[in-house]
Amino acid sequence: MRPFAFIRPTDVAEAVRTVAGHPGAVYLAGGTNLVDHLKLGVARPDLVVDVRTLTSREVTDTGDGGLRIGAAVTNSELAADRRLRERYPVLAQALLSGASGQLRNVATTGGNPLQRTRCVYFQDVTAACNKREPGSGCSAVGGYTRYHAIFGVPESPDAAAPDTCIATHPSDMAVALAALDARVRARGPAGTREIPFGQLHRLPGDDPSRDTVLAHGELITAIDLPPLPDGARSAYRKVRDRASYAFALVSVAAVVAMDGGLVSDARLALGGVAHKPWRAARAEEALLGRPATEEAFRAAADAELAGARPQPGLGGGNGFKIPLAARAIVATLRELAGGLT
Ligand code: SF4
Repeated sequence: MRPFAFIRPTDVAEAVRTVAGHPGAVYLAGGTNLVDHLKLGVARPDLVVDVRTLTSREVTDTGDGGLRIGAAVTNSELAADRRLRERYPVLAQALLSGASGQLRNVATTGGNPLQRTRCVYFQDVTAACNKREPGSGCSAVGGYTRYHAIFGVPESPDAAAPDTCIATHPSDMAVALAALDARVRARGPAGTREIPFGQLHRLPGDDPSRDTVLAHGELITAIDLPPLPDGARSAYRKVRDRASYAFALVSVAAVVAMDGGLVSDARLALGGVAHKPWRAARAEEALLGRPATEEAFRAAADAELAGARPQPGLGGGNGFKIPLAARAIVATLRELAGGLT
């Protein structure tokens, strides 16, 4: 165990000032991911700053008909909120499909979207991993790719290149937030800024070590959900290797509204397929203005998956995710279409 200092600041401003001014500092919220990484040696901070009691633990109505969720609201509390279950079932379902009841009791709104990939090589400190040890290479290329990306990856990833990473983002909650066009409120030393949720996470680019656009020291203080169009329905579907306590092989978050018998609003995000929650823009475009039919759903899934790049690897790689994602998209849309008018 590597020793580290531990402090509990009195307010958000002090916490932000402390972490921003200290390169080796990290925030502690629910700790469900950080504590694992401390034990594994994946995270090696010299200062841990506890923010568990500093941000809001309230879900409040906003003036435009949406909801503001304080960063300290736990996943269990949020999933049980009646307003959330009635107005944003996609998010309640995503929360309840994540982890276990015990973990959801401590995982927070601010922390869940910032959890790190479960790539087995990232969690194994003896393996080369550009995300954990920049420039060391990527052990996943040609390795075990069952849980890895099919979107946002190069045509032929190079295991030795310093910018290669084919990892996926593990959060279910984040996939639903991407489909809901949520907005993140983040506090930094210069003040608070709003980040559209779809822009919070990044693709590996030239620096796979960075999962998000947050600067060191920026702290998520709340997440806002805008209101959905009248009559919109939403749902989350997760496909995984076992019925509970497993990460998504593929997941789908969908929000659909109809007008005059045609799809007037379609928002789809996929989980388990990319370095970030993957907004399925091609599928959305294919759905808009079409009737909600099985044929239209298949065309939308095909349009999105035409851009997929399956990765070879041990045990046959991850090409199975393409038909799996197509079926999951169609099944989710079919479920929603049953109640649309
Ligand atoms: Fe590391 Fe990313 Fe490669 Fe996994 S896929 S070994 S996280 S660089």
